[in-house]
Amino acid sequence: MTVQLRYGAATDIGLVRELNEDSMLQKPPLFVVADGMGGHSAGDVASKMAVDSLASLANGEEGLTAAVKRANRRIYETARKDSGLGGMGTTLTAMLAGESSFQIAHVGDSRAYLLRDGELTRITQDHTVVSRLVQEGRITEEDAQHHPQRSYLERALGVEDDVDVDVSILDAHPGDRLLLCSDGLYTMVSDEQIAEVLAAEDEPTQAANSLCRMAVEAGGSDNVTAMVIDYPGPRPRAAAPARPVKTKKKLIPRWVAALVVAAVVALVAGLMGKAALDESWYVGIHDGKVTVFNGVKGSFAGIDLSEPSTVSGLEAETLPEPEQSRLEEGIPASDRTEAERIVENLRRITASQAAPSPSPSATGSP
Ligand code: MN
Repeated sequence: MTVQLRYGAATDIGLVRELNEDSMLQKPPLFVVADGMGGHSAGDVASKMAVDSLASLANGEEGLTAAVKRANRRIYETARKDSGLGGMGTTLTAMLAGESSFQIAHVGDSRAYLLRDGELTRITQDHTVVSRLVQEGRITEEDAQHHPQRSYLERALGVEDDVDVDVSILDAHPGDRLLLCSDGLYTMVSDEQIAEVLAAEDEPTQAANSLCRMAVEAGGSDNVTAMVIDYPGPRPRAAAPARPVKTKKKLIPRWVAALVVAAVVALVAGLMGKAALDESWYVGIHDGKVTVFNGVKGSFAGIDLSEPSTVSGLEAETLPEPEQSRLEEGIPASDRTEAERIVENLRRITASQAAPSPSPSATGSP
């Protein structure tokens, strides 16, 4: 393969998990993201095994599907022999890039997206219970987003001795940008936001970093991995902010100009300060409850720079320790909607802690 791909990836443990069980591989023409599941460090073992076992494909003749099935068998047999690893499994989303086409192999709920001509489309279908319910028209895409069982997998590597692998082959267009990611990204960041970042950030590693950071800032309740692969060619860039209009120079005495400038600077700073406060949001704690604040955390000259906007019923102390300390510092949000989404995410974290843990073989990312 002679096509020159640009690529980059980022991964983050998130704010709640104690271990990063996501694994990845960037070995052109092969790119893989895997999200492990299972008790203790078993998920970590499963996702690493999947990635390692595929890595040899980049040199060999074996087809992608056969390689995924071989990885499945290896994980399955290891889980059977080692009782400490029983019930482990992993998702796997792999891309094999050719010059004029690329292949995607997929099992589980990690995803592959394609950004082409500025438009983002999802290539893979989640192998989850809720995804099936959506396809059958029994619940809406909206419901699925917040469904408590949204991470229950119907298919994963290592669970049975054989596995069905979804494979798709797509024509590659110049400027195509692929995103492989674990569910820690898309459960925290909307498809619209993902599309925006992918269109705006030119450098693949930068784009992957930005996506991971957004997922963590939105609550980071899971490990998150993002990998961006670019085919050479022009990509439409997101619209740059309009250029300021140039003003004509006028001949006025210097000292008048200096005074005017000083006055304008003071006025603008004052206005901007006020506008910045009105448009700033964060999530913190008010009377022990998780609360959306308008303004910035802190005070100036004895005056609070923020005020509580929406006090939720969620007690801050029901959350895990790292969440509580983030709340004490204030979790910044770009607007009120994002702040409210952070509160929703925190609510889900509390709910998932309270829920009895489901059986590992049926669970993607509990
Ligand atoms: Mn996950």
